[in-house]
Amino acid sequence: MFFLMLGWGLLTIIIVHCFFIIIFNIFINPHEPSTFAKIFPYQFINNLLFKGTNTEKSYFSIRVDINTSEENVREHDEGVRRLIHIADRYHIPITFSIATEYISVMSDDVIQKIKEGGHDVISHGHMHTDMTEQDQVSSIRRSKDILEEVFEREIIGLIGPNGKHDTRTLEAAKTTGIKFLSSGALSHIRYWSFPYPFKKDGVWLLGGSIKSDFQLYRVDKVEPKRSMELWKKAISYRTDKGWYTQLEYHNFSTTDDELSALEELFKYIKEDTPLKPITQSDLVWMMEKCNKNKVS
Ligand SMILES: [Zn+2]
Repeated sequence: MFFLMLGWGLLTIIIVHCFFIIIFNIFINPHEPSTFAKIFPYQFINNLLFKGTNTEKSYFSIRVDINTSEENVREHDEGVRRLIHIADRYHIPITFSIATEYISVMSDDVIQKIKEGGHDVISHGHMHTDMTEQDQVSSIRRSKDILEEVFEREIIGLIGPNGKHDTRTLEAAKTTGIKFLSSGALSHIRYWSFPYPFKKDGVWLLGGSIKSDFQLYRVDKVEPKRSMELWKKAISYRTDKGWYTQLEYHNFSTTDDELSALEELFKYIKEDTPLKPITQSDLVWMMEKCNKNKVS
C-alpha cells in the first residue's frame, strides 16, 4: 500500500513538473507571443509561486559580455569605447559582465569610462568555461575580487560563462556575496523567459531576457535593420504588459552596422517607449531596499 502511494505521488510530481516545463518553455516564450501567452495570468502565478517583482515601471537593462580570449578582449575594447559613447548620448547605462582572466588587456580609458559613466559591472566568472564544470566558489570569488579592485565598487551580480548555471551556483552565489544572477536559467527549467525578476533561495534571478544571440535576434545572423525590427517587436510586446525587459548582448562585436543598429534601438527606447533604463545592480539594490516583492 505504502509503495503504491509513493508511486502515485512520484508520478504526480513528474506530471506536474512536465506541465511546468511545457508551460515555461513553449507557451511563455516572449519572442513569439502566442494567444495562450496573451491570456496567461503571469503576474498572478509569478506572485503566487515565486514572490516575483511587479515591475510597474517597465524597467529595461542591457547586458554586454566581455569575455573569451585575449584577442576578444582587445577586439572588444574599441567596440566598448564606441558603445559607451552611444549609450551615454541616450543616457542608457550598460551592465558589463566581465570574465576576468584577460582583464589586463582592457584599456585604462575604457575601464575609466565604465567607472565614471554610471555603468555597471558584474562577474562573468574568471575563466570563460562553463561555470558548472568549475569550482564555482573559487571562480566567482576570484573574479569578484579582481573586479572590485579594478572598478572600486562592490560586485553583486553574476552571469555564468555561456549562461550556464545550476542549483550549486545559487549556493556559490550566496557564499561569495553575489545577490543576483543575470538570467533566470538554472539547469532544470529555463526560467529566463519569465517576465519578472524573482528571488530563489535568497538570490535574485533576473528573468525577462531578450537574447541577442537567440537565433533570429543575433545581429550577425540577420541583417541589423531586420534584427532591430525584431527587437522592437519583442520590446513593445513586453512593454505593453509592463514586464521587465533585459537585452542580453553576447559576443558583442564592433561592426559599424551593429553599432548604428544599436544606436537606433537606444533612440527608440528613449523616444518611443515608457521604458526606464537601469543597471542590473541598481535594479537589484532597489528590489532589496523596497520590501521583497514590489518595486514602485
Ligand atoms: Zn560569455
